[in-house]
Parts: sequence; structure tokens; C-alpha cells
Amino acid sequence: DRRAWDAVRRTLHNRVVELRGNIRTFVRVRPAVDVAKTGQPAATSVACPRPPAGASGEMVEVPETVAAGGPPRKARTFRFAFDRVFSPRADQATVFAEVEPFVRSAIDGFAVCVFAYGQTGSGKTHTTLGSPEHPGILGRSLDRVFEAIADLEPRWRFDVHVEMLEIYLEKVYDLLASDDGAPLVACDQGDQVPKIANQTRLPVDSPRAAAAVLAKAQKRRKVGATKSNANSSRSHCIFSLRLNGTDGVETSSGVFNLVDLAGSERLSISGSNDDKRLLKEAQAINSSLAALGNVISALSSTPPASHVPYRDSKLTFLLQPFLGGDAKTLAIINVAPETIHERETLCSLRFAQKVSRCVPTTTSSTSSSAKPMATTTTMTTTTK
Ligand code: ADP
Ligand code: MG
Repeated sequence: DRRAWDAVRRTLHNRVVELRGNIRTFVRVRPAVDVAKTGQPAATSVACPRPPAGASGEMVEVPETVAAGGPPRKARTFRFAFDRVFSPRADQATVFAEVEPFVRSAIDGFAVCVFAYGQTGSGKTHTTLGSPEHPGILGRSLDRVFEAIADLEPRWRFDVHVEMLEIYLEKVYDLLASDDGAPLVACDQGDQVPKIANQTRLPVDSPRAAAAVLAKAQKRRKVGATKSNANSSRSHCIFSLRLNGTDGVETSSGVFNLVDLAGSERLSISGSNDDKRLLKEAQAINSSLAALGNVISALSSTPPASHVPYRDSKLTFLLQPFLGGDAKTLAIINVAPETIHERETLCSLRFAQKVSRCVPTTTSSTSSSAKPMATTTTMTTTTK
């Protein structure tokens, strides 16, 4: 009987996702930027070595650069292990193949959050939105959702709605609201659960319709000129797909959230008037990213943490219903390979390590396979 078979298929798929972990961390290293265009050094410092036989997870390593003329010392190589590490050669389809199980879980009625984290210019928007020639997770997820719905019809009938919120300076904006003044969405952190008044939720019936709505809204994101990238985004952006289905007896309501986070870079700010706004932005971004890290690491710790600090930021507060429990979380950490970004890359990988459950692979005499990665990041030494 088809209905029983549907239920078995759903259960099996979601058991497999759970076995791999409801909270997973991927790293994506973008290709080195064309030197001729940017004048940046070409050196590709981030490597994605093959993990040793029998190791769990995949490796990324960052060799430290030692300044010329400084005191002579040994350069270290920082190594990290994650559920998946995508090298600069991994294309959008390769990345999506690993994200697709999360999309399927949302179709099966689970809450899913996929985050893209990283410094400005590291590839967050490429990964989440992509371009018309190289569509990212959003477009591919929409295709997958409507394909799956077509497969389930006519036994199941699904309604798909899109929502899109922006968080800038800890204020929440509705990017789908029809008037361009972008009214502040009411959201009271004193409430037990986030209450959002008048949030726009638009029905969509095809990937094309959804993509059109979301692309238009994306253009309304607040963008500020930062030192690293004139078009950088200083806000968090949350795309949500609500998937409500019924076969007349059972119902299913899944949510797929895709979050393009604000750039994680530390800015050096002088204190001029112009910089006051940048300073406020940087503080809001730093504290909300820290809150996100704390929430995810509380959720992934064993034994589970008794307190999960959802209320420390608007971001975690709004996403609270979709994090924890049997919800599925994927953090994709984007890093830039160039040597000049070494410091930020290490910051991002340390953030990732904090939210990840990966244990190290045994590669060095200083590590043992039972120790958590946190204790063994600094390993191989090479003399430069
Ligand atoms: P962010 O959103 O993190 O600021 P972007 O996604 O805008 O960064 O990426 C910066 C630039 O690098 C863009 O021109 C983008 O097209 C390019 N880029 C990023 N990741 C990749 C990738 N994996 N392959 C090819 N180009 C990439
Ligand atoms: Mg971006």
C-alpha cells in the first residue's frame, strides 16, 4: 500500500540523516581569486589533504605564515576535521548533493536550518544563492522540493510558502513586505516564543515563481561598504520555505531555512564618525554570531546542555523553533584560501570546530584518536 510505503521511506531516510548527526558541519574552500584582477597574492595556503585510512570526517589544514625578518621560529600547520570539506574544485552540484538530504527531511516534515558562515568574500552568497550560471543551494532546493511534491501527488497535496527576513543591527525586517519602507517586524524577546506580527508569507507554485520573489527581495538587503569588499553584506538574511502537506489523513509541516549570515570578519575601526556605524554593525554581528555558535554547541554537546541561550540574539531567537529537538542543522563554513586571509580563516575554522562534534583523525604523534579536536589543533611543524 502506497501510504505505508511512503511512511517507511520517510522513516528510513530520516534515520540515516540522524545517524550521521542532526547537527553537521561542512567547510567549503573557495577558489583563489584571479590575481590579475585583484592584485592579491596568489598563494593558496589552505589545503584539503586526504584523511588517513580509517579516519572519520575530512581534513582541512592551514599552514601558518611566518613574517620575513621576524624572530626565527617554526611555522605551524593548523589541522581541523569536519563532516565534509569541499576543496576549491567542488562545484555547486557537488555541494548540493550533500545538502539534499536536509531538503528531503524538510519535505518529510522536519525543521531544517542551513547556515552559511564566513568572512566577507569567502563565498557565502555563492554557496546559498549562487548565480544564474551556477545556481546555489536555494535554487537547487526549490527544484528538489517541487520535484518531490510532483512525485507525491496526487496522494499528497502540498502548499509551499516563502518568507524572507533580514536582521540588521538586531532589528528584524520583512524583505517580502510590499512597501519599500520595510516595516520593522514586531518581535519581542520577552515572549516565550518568537511572535512576528504581519510577516509576509507568499504562496509559490513553482521553483521559478519562488526564485523570482526571493531574488527581488534579496536586492533589498542592507549592504554597507566595508574595507574588505564594497558590496559586503552586514546583515543576516533568512530564507524560509514552509512545506505543508496532507494526504487527507496525515499532515506534514516541514520548514527549510537557509541563512546567509553577515560577514564574520573583525574590522579595525579607528573611531571616526563614519566608523561609529561600522562599529555598531560589527558589535551586532559579532554578538549574534557568537550567540549562534553558543546555541549550536549547546545543542550538539553530549550530554545535552541544560540551558540553550536562544535569547542572546534576534537570530537565534527567531530560529529557535527550528533548532534543537529533532530539527536538523547544517553549518557550512566558507573560507578564502589566500594567505592574506589566514587569520580570518583560522577564526572561522575555530568557530566551526566549536560547533562541530568531529573528533580528530590520527595523523600526528601528538594526537590520539579519542581526544576531541579542540585539544589537538596545532600539530605538524615545518621549518620555513
Ligand atoms: P560572501 O557572500 O561570503 O561575501 P561571495 O559569495 O559574494 O562571498 O563570493 C565572493 C566572490 O567569489 C564572488 O565573486 C563569487 O562569485 C566568488 N566565489 C565564491 N565562492 C566561489 C566558488 N566556490 N567558485 C567560484 N567562485 C566563487
Ligand atoms: Mg554575501
